Amino acid sequence: MDFNLFKRSVPENIKIVAVSKTKPVEKIKQIYDLGHKDFGENKVQEMVRKHQELPDDINWHLIGKLQRNKVKYIAPFIHLIHSVDSEKLLSQINKEAEKNNRIINVLLQIKISNDPLKTGFNFSELDNMFSSFLFLKYKFVKVLGFMGMGSVDYSKNEEEFKKISNYFKEINQIYDLKYLSLGMSNDYKLAIKYDSNMIRIGSLIFGSRN
Ligand SMILES: *Cc1c(COP(=O)(O)O)cnc(C)c1O
Repeated sequence: MDFNLFKRSVPENIKIVAVSKTKPVEKIKQIYDLGHKDFGENKVQEMVRKHQELPDDINWHLIGKLQRNKVKYIAPFIHLIHSVDSEKLLSQINKEAEKNNRIINVLLQIKISNDPLKTGFNFSELDNMFSSFLFLKYKFVKVLGFMGMGSVDYSKNEEEFKKISNYFKEINQIYDLKYLSLGMSNDYKLAIKYDSNMIRIGSLIFGSRN
């Protein structure tokens, strides 16, 4: 789909992350040249390579599973890590951020589906983290919100998104979280209905992946 057409169809307050995983840098450059700056990748190595080859002012979003020993490769430049799924990972990001003398912005990934392949925190783990001194402990990490993914079974997505959205609103009665990263090519409209303000769109922008 034409990128500008797509962008115009989405409310202005919604941040679009163009998910460029598996796509060549030339394709990314085409979208960048239209004025778009936010791109998402799910693999560290691929992101590092593309970061080196493309303009410096791109905002790189990591959306896939992040291993602790790989945090160091993206720490100098990463814009937002959507996929923080354990406190150990958060602690490692904090350490690498300090080494690089910068604050790294993150989202906590919520595990909502029963899919054993999906990782993240459940609501009670998040409750514990928000009630403890988590945010004072990790001074080089800033938690900006949550990321969620619906299960493969579409019929469950509405209920899942509703739960995540309610939790986001509940936490925001006390905290001032900025982003709810919810929604991909096939479910972003439903996600927006449930207050998502950051959508991760791959195939709709770049075409299907092999
Ligand atoms: C690949 C991916 C997307 C984008 O998926 P599309 O269906 O191509 O829009 C979004 N979020 C995550 C976590 C992904 O891995």
